[in-house]
Amino acid sequence: MWLPLHIGIDDTDSTRMGCTTYIASLLIEKITKREGIFLDYPTLIRLNPNVPWKTRGNGAICLRIRIHADRLDQVIEEAIETVKVNSDLDDGKTDPGIVFYVGEKIPREFTNFSLKTKQDIVKKNEALKLVKKYGAKALSFKYGRGIIGALAAVGETLIDDHTYELISYRIKRNRGTPRKLDEASVFRMDKVMRGLTFNNVDYEKRGVLITPRGPDPIFLGIRGESADAVKRAFSLLKIEEEIERWVIYRTNQGTDAHLRPVNNIDLIQPHHSVIVIGTLSRNPISIPGRHVIFTIADENKEIDCAAYEPTGKFRNIIRALTVGDIVQVFGGVRPSSEKTPMTINLEKIKIIRLNPKFLIQNPTCKFCEKHMESMGKEKGFRCKKCGVRERKAKKVQVQVKRDISTGLYIPPPRANRHLTKPLSRYGIEKTFYNTSPSDFWGHGPINHYL
Ligand code: ATP
Repeated sequence: MWLPLHIGIDDTDSTRMGCTTYIASLLIEKITKREGIFLDYPTLIRLNPNVPWKTRGNGAICLRIRIHADRLDQVIEEAIETVKVNSDLDDGKTDPGIVFYVGEKIPREFTNFSLKTKQDIVKKNEALKLVKKYGAKALSFKYGRGIIGALAAVGETLIDDHTYELISYRIKRNRGTPRKLDEASVFRMDKVMRGLTFNNVDYEKRGVLITPRGPDPIFLGIRGESADAVKRAFSLLKIEEEIERWVIYRTNQGTDAHLRPVNNIDLIQPHHSVIVIGTLSRNPISIPGRHVIFTIADENKEIDCAAYEPTGKFRNIIRALTVGDIVQVFGGVRPSSEKTPMTINLEKIKIIRLNPKFLIQNPTCKFCEKHMESMGKEKGFRCKKCGVRERKAKKVQVQVKRDISTGLYIPPPRANRHLTKPLSRYGIEKTFYNTSPSDFWGHGPINHYL
């Protein structure tokens, strides 16, 4: 008898070492050896980016396989061992969790839990209750907070919008050394694969974004619209060091899955990511660190919004806003502190309506069309060029052109969160998982792993 097994994994790494996706890649190899059949790509699910205790990108992994009942226990043991051996258990903040669930269908309550974990703060107990209710198995090391992310990954089946990421891993010897990748080849690949991949490079700073900087095992990650696209993009790169392995993940990156529309500012809560409409009630100001802050309001309440220094030229758009402009803001909510009120950290902004801007000017001369000069309070105006005097002329109000226009603005890719939908993905969001059910749930062998 063959059983559908879902394995969720989270919280294995630290900033010093490791990566949960790398553990997944090792496990994929072991499962393949046990003749496990992959029912889906491994999935990489990004959870609430505002969780204070995340290591980096708050990502969790799920592997969905069909395994012979005789080998179920063996695979479970191997999964536990792989997580144990490859986690940074010495780090105070690493609390690995694994969830095993055997079932053809994912319970709706798991999916709801997953949605909550992307948008809210959840408690480990909520996860444990669901694990118990549906007869799943949860295993943890240390405090085991990773069970939250592990269950959320199992619950997210990515049947709506999704993207792909090909992640390649470095051989052990090279970890911690600078990554050897011909940068020009990344820019060339980006041009060829435009529209099919995203966030490869940052044109504002001319930087490569696909390689991380830290000592982790990841060599690079290419994000795109299909498995074929990321594979092709990978083949176009000039890589100058040995690659240990690579895996294509199906992900919720670049889908805005964390953002939740709220009807009014009053409903905004810390650690959520919101979409809310308001009217500028205070003009943008620059604060130390070159961050820009402004305030929006609705009938009941006000909230500050911040565009931080790393958002680069995006701040020029923000600086050009003025009181009365109507905007829709998108971003994570930073709780208030002793020094600052609750603030929306801007991930994007849609300018809905620009308030007309007026200037009070001296009248223009009807002959020369030049601005006249005042002859003193209530004494009228005189044209400097032709000398004509207008004793009854008054200052006039003229509407001036605004420096910005309505529309959607997103910071440069280097400042984007993993979940933020880039401009290039607007209009091409997926509404279903484009694989026949037999491929999805049925058989392999997998083509996503080398
Ligand atoms: P990396 O991206 O490098 O794998 P990370 O940023 O994913 O690391 P973790 O080390 O996994 O960070 O830490 C995140 C922790 O927060 C995990 O234990 C996860 O279970 C938990 N967590 C994730 N989302 C939530 C949430 N919404 N509420 C409460 N806890 C959460």
